[in-house]
Amino acid sequence: MKVYVSFWLPEEPLNVLREKHTVVVNDEDRLPTADELVAQLSAADAFLCVGSRVDSGVLDRVGNRLKIIANWGVGYNNIDAEYAAQKGIMVTNTPDVLTETTADMAWALLMAVARRVVEADTYVRAGRFQGFKPFAMMGSDVWGKTIGIVGFGRIGQAVGRRALGFRMNVLYYDTVPPTREVEQALCATYMDLDALLQQSDFVSIHVPLNEETRHLIDARRLSHMKPTAFLVNAARGPIVAEQALLEALRENRIAGAGLDVFEHEPELTPGLADLSNVVLAPHIGSGTWETRTNMAHMAAQNIIAALDGRSPPNLVNRPVAG
Ligand code: NAP
Repeated sequence: MKVYVSFWLPEEPLNVLREKHTVVVNDEDRLPTADELVAQLSAADAFLCVGSRVDSGVLDRVGNRLKIIANWGVGYNNIDAEYAAQKGIMVTNTPDVLTETTADMAWALLMAVARRVVEADTYVRAGRFQGFKPFAMMGSDVWGKTIGIVGFGRIGQAVGRRALGFRMNVLYYDTVPPTREVEQALCATYMDLDALLQQSDFVSIHVPLNEETRHLIDARRLSHMKPTAFLVNAARGPIVAEQALLEALRENRIAGAGLDVFEHEPELTPGLADLSNVVLAPHIGSGTWETRTNMAHMAAQNIIAALDGRSPPNLVNRPVAG
């Protein structure tokens, strides 16, 4: 059967697919356009989706050959999974395998913005370091502070585990609290979102993007944060109202932000890149060779299962029988 892959991936997972199927990989250094995607998916049994948007408009035009969209990522807000289900198409994702790597990145941003690592690097490279000064480029302590984790699922809990090593007070907000054992193991305390924002020195976002979480952190919620607090977003850009964040940062109503994702990716809200109290990264939360290769293996296994007539291990929708 035929598998379409919308961006270059390492050979090893693709070779696993090639043992049983014909694999067509987009060889451009860009994502396919919607028209190119429709043309490819109309002639494919499976789609290994690397960052492409698959909305109802695309799904309406792909015919009825496609059986599975295996998303290369845990967040699948780029795919209309419910509409795909109505068309009998399975949608899968890649949970767990990227959890620790993404938590590392959230922490990298948190540490970088609190201790001004990027500013300091720029300062030294510019030749401005003329000798030790006792109070040059002061940062904020991380250890012993309060971290508020918004979305206490796999990645949120992994961020919480790291916080214990920094002897931090861990607060979390989630729709469904974890088990008592998880709460106790992480010394984590549930708090409603507004209270969490008021009490935290660091707020780290780990909810999925959906209609409930779009602009979850808006101007009103940002106004609850302490002027000394930092916001980290390594989840999805539209969860934070970026213009409101820009204004809060510019007016020093919060101390800083570490952002791996943006509301209108890849565009930044004008002015964001001019601020010294933000650290910006190009959506590299899960970006290590090991993890991104493992994600491709996982997506490949989902496709192999689906094309074998089995239920794929990471199914996220309930397709109606064709
Ligand atoms: P997860 O295990 O499903 O955790 C998300 C948590 O958020 C769940 O506990 C979920 O509760 C909770 N939640 C959902 N809606 C909520 C709401 N409205 N208010 C409060 N809590 C809510 O997912 P994960 O594996 O940790 O991944 C989280 C997100 O990280 C992904 O969806 C993805 O967008 C993002 N991500 C980004 C990168 C990157 O490269 N920057 C890499 C990996 C992941 P329920 O389970 O009850 O819904």
